[in-house]
Amino acid sequence: MKKILSIFLVFFVLMTFVERLHAASLDTAYRTARDNYSALQSSPRKQKLRSEWDRVVLQFLQVYERDPGGPLAAEALFMAAKTVHGRYRVSRVADDAWEAVMLFERVSRDIPASSLGDDALVLAGDLLETTLGAPEEAYLRYQQAATRYPHGDMTPRARQRLNALVRYAPPPSSSVAVAARVEPAPAVLNESSDPPADMVATRLSGIRFWSNPGYTRVVLDLTATSAYTASFLNADPVENLPQRLYLDIGPARLDPALAAPTVVDDGLLRRIRAGVPEAGKVRVVLDLVSIGHYKIFPLNDPYRLVIDISGDKIPEIKTLEPSLQAAAPPKGDEVAKVLEQLPASLPPPALPAPPILTGLRRIVVDAGHGGKDPGAVGPSGLKEKDVTLALAKTLAKSLREVLGCEVVLTRDRDVFLPLEERTAIANKVGADLFISLHANAAPNRQAYGIETYYLNFSKNDKAAAVAARENGTSLKEVTDLEQILFDLMANSKINESSRLAAEIQKALVDRLGERFEDVRDLGVRQGPFYVLLGATMPSVLVEAAFISHPREEQRLVSRSYREHTADAIVEAVRNYARAHKLIVSR
Ligand SMILES: [Zn+2]
Repeated sequence: MKKILSIFLVFFVLMTFVERLHAASLDTAYRTARDNYSALQSSPRKQKLRSEWDRVVLQFLQVYERDPGGPLAAEALFMAAKTVHGRYRVSRVADDAWEAVMLFERVSRDIPASSLGDDALVLAGDLLETTLGAPEEAYLRYQQAATRYPHGDMTPRARQRLNALVRYAPPPSSSVAVAARVEPAPAVLNESSDPPADMVATRLSGIRFWSNPGYTRVVLDLTATSAYTASFLNADPVENLPQRLYLDIGPARLDPALAAPTVVDDGLLRRIRAGVPEAGKVRVVLDLVSIGHYKIFPLNDPYRLVIDISGDKIPEIKTLEPSLQAAAPPKGDEVAKVLEQLPASLPPPALPAPPILTGLRRIVVDAGHGGKDPGAVGPSGLKEKDVTLALAKTLAKSLREVLGCEVVLTRDRDVFLPLEERTAIANKVGADLFISLHANAAPNRQAYGIETYYLNFSKNDKAAAVAARENGTSLKEVTDLEQILFDLMANSKINESSRLAAEIQKALVDRLGERFEDVRDLGVRQGPFYVLLGATMPSVLVEAAFISHPREEQRLVSRSYREHTADAIVEAVRNYARAHKLIVSR
């Protein structure tokens, strides 16, 4: 007993020592970062080099990441934001300003108790207002500063800016007067006011939706690009009208088949009505039950508007079946077909979930492309859509067997599935992770290697080019998308996604590198991928190899390469889950 006690004591003393050492080294790391920041401030020569800024940003972020709950966390994150802001002042690249805004916001969001929260939010507001020309966004940050930190030293400034920007206040607070003025027309199709087809070519041709209790995605299909405006109306108890979100699209006309309201009734959204308030304009009204947030973004080819509506908090889905019964998607829909098969394709886990993995119950594996979209095609004719499907099936099997979690495939055969439906499935089934599988391609047939992406602004032209290819759009459209990306990323799990991407990339390179010649590590990258937009769980896109490279094309054909790829991803998911659990329990 005495011996055990003394061993315990030694262990305890050792642990205390290790902890102190850790704290001391963290302290040193923070001081080094600060010194480098000061050195950068006083050296115009260094300031011209982006790498100098990046180095300091990274040093601050590392201090934060090593102990996100620790005494230095808020200061380190705040300084990282300030450094990125400094980088913007030199580069004048809007992405840098956006990145600074995001980091400032995180100070308040991740460490709400910090006294730097109001400073950070006001700085984010100032950047949005003056530099980025986004007064509505700025208003929200000032508002957060004023409400979250009523006694903060920067709160007077927040209040002053709120007064100055009052006309940019979000609509829900502007209430009944507005509602009376812009009451949507009843959704009656007025054939006589519909202009001749040759005058207005764009037609609203379809309304689709996917829902669960906390999240609904609506997609409006149009036959061509069209301008739109969105407005929000408060409930009107006098007229017995619910909260409404409506979009005016035009010039456009309405497909007569869409004149009848679409009933949704999923707890968030009652129904969707489409009508023609005046010639050449289509109005789509979403009758809401309750709303937390909404996001609208256009996708191209074919043109469509995606509307994501979420409640205040997303309820946890305990089992898969009830959520699927709660809201069956429209018949004839590809998602419907996939989802209808879910219970059959989800055999009870062979093994009980190991305790270490209690955090991961359900993973969605997405086989890129499919059906009429072959994806990239290799020199000998191998199609990306076939590679991704084979790889997805192998990965699903392995995840179920090794980790004992449920796996949902977005497609289990050669069918076409629009990109927005893939994340809709993941959100709908309450997935804990979303993994989209692809094979890379480049005009240069010599290019090869492995890379893993997560959703963010692209950091370089190559990443933007890969995003453009996977999105099926032009590079210009990717740039346009980046303009609205900031807004869309508010709920996305950027940190977790980047961590998952890092685990996957490392496992792939390590494992495949041991077994195959010349495995090239192209690293973890970020880019604006449509397929990852709106995912509410950590989500990544894996480019497993270059199908355009003759040797890698041959590897993608081989079962052994695919199996090792799948095994590496399983290992990465396990490592991610372990690390994540540690972070959560800290
Ligand atoms: Zn692809």
